[in-house]
Amino acid sequence: MDRLAIVVPCYNEEEVLKIASEALRGVLEDLAAKKKIDSSSFILFVNDGSKDRTWELIEEEHRLYPSQVCGVKLAGNVGHQFALTAGLLTAMERSDVTVSIDADLQDDVSVIEEMIDKYHAGSDIVYGVRKERKTDTFFKRTTAQAFYKLMALMGVKTVYNHADFRLMSRRAVEQFSQYKETNLFLRGMMPLIGYQTDSVYYDRKERVAGESKYPLKKMLALAFNGISSFSVKPISMIMGLGFMIIICSILAAIYALISYFTGHVVPGWTSLILSIWFLGGLQLMAVGLVGQYIGKIYMEVKQRPRYNIEKILESEQEQETKDEL
Ligand code: UDP
Ligand code: MG
Repeated sequence: MDRLAIVVPCYNEEEVLKIASEALRGVLEDLAAKKKIDSSSFILFVNDGSKDRTWELIEEEHRLYPSQVCGVKLAGNVGHQFALTAGLLTAMERSDVTVSIDADLQDDVSVIEEMIDKYHAGSDIVYGVRKERKTDTFFKRTTAQAFYKLMALMGVKTVYNHADFRLMSRRAVEQFSQYKETNLFLRGMMPLIGYQTDSVYYDRKERVAGESKYPLKKMLALAFNGISSFSVKPISMIMGLGFMIIICSILAAIYALISYFTGHVVPGWTSLILSIWFLGGLQLMAVGLVGQYIGKIYMEVKQRPRYNIEKILESEQEQETKDEL
């Protein structure tokens, strides 16, 4: 039977840690009793350089429930995306399937069962998708929606209303580990993996305790990182703008020449206005063009895997030689 690892990044979560541990242990026991996962399944708390008692509490939980609660202590605060990656990669070697979830229990733990069912039905990635954002503030809701729209506009594939609550099979995490990039935006990377995916839907709740560790500043940084890590469209836009200004400069030239010949202008205005428009457009286009090359270099240095083989149907001879080995 498959061993499940529930990966939970934690930053200053002393108020919620015990509650989260209890709820998740309940899920593990329930699923193990239903024979859906192995009884050696565990929770992996990742302490992301918390300044409060989070790590002490993780140690305590581990002492109380040594087979169910494990922990990883990062040496400093690296942020949610990196903490989660550290957890997933640590869990990868020790489990068959992982579920990542926030420590604050805003995501509904009861749909983990549904995720596991979909995993057994053949999906490698199962996204937890929020049905509605009733409990979020108006501000968070609108900014988040604008963010998903902007991402789509920039050509970045993301799953609408999905954060980082998701199930990943071991081979999905293994493929993910091939992405060596340092600018992490996990939500954007998952669709690149390309295995069979599915979604489960749930209502997002309020934080059980404590406050959000994602202030507006971090949210904006995440949004910008998401776009700039996946898309070089902004550069193309600059180039397009330069091109448009050059077109405008032709119109401006016609206008300026007409004004010149009808004689309503101050001497020197025509040549001046023509140079301003034309050179402005030319410069912008040149910058965009240079940017295109930089964009390519950017994509190259990421060294992302170029493809991911899901299945190979081999010839019989091939199978036989393998069996002999
Ligand atoms: N988190 C983390 N490192 C950070 C910030 C947050 O590991 O630097 C964790 C945090 O403990 C929580 C998750 O990331 O488990 C999501 O954070 P939060 O619930 O504060 O974000 P929100 O739900 O408000 O967007
Ligand atoms: Mg939260």
